[in-house]
Amino acid sequence: MKRTKLRGLKSSYDRRRERKASRNLCIRKYCRRRPRPYRRVCDTCESREKFARNPILRLFHNLKSGAKRRRIPFALPFAWFCAAASASGYDRAHGQSRDSLTVDRIDNRRGYEPDNIQFISHAENSRKGWYERHGKPWEQKEVENENEPF
Ligand SMILES: [Zn+2]
Repeated sequence: MKRTKLRGLKSSYDRRRERKASRNLCIRKYCRRRPRPYRRVCDTCESREKFARNPILRLFHNLKSGAKRRRIPFALPFAWFCAAASASGYDRAHGQSRDSLTVDRIDNRRGYEPDNIQFISHAENSRKGWYERHGKPWEQKEVENENEPF
């Protein structure tokens, strides 16, 4: 983002920046945290900006921390995840709706490993869970042609 600077004129951004920096506060708008020594942006704002720049990194981070919380071993290399996420469309089609993609462990007894991962929709993932709870073999439904109207 390029700012046009007029000599002698300070933008509201400049004024905020100076005011907050002099009070030792993070210079981002509405943020009242304190940055580390010799820095101007706090860790929280910095990581938010980092994730905003790199959405796949956010997905990877969420997956990894979720695995840690659920005590599931996690052994996916970041480079592998990047490639797999964009090849499957996961980076664009993740979310809450039934058709959005999820990261599924093929064998639930194993952790997140490259050969134990597939990207399937929420609906498929729930269906798979049902089959597993009932001790039946699961097979992925044929993916319907997206161009066909219903
Ligand atoms: Zn901040």
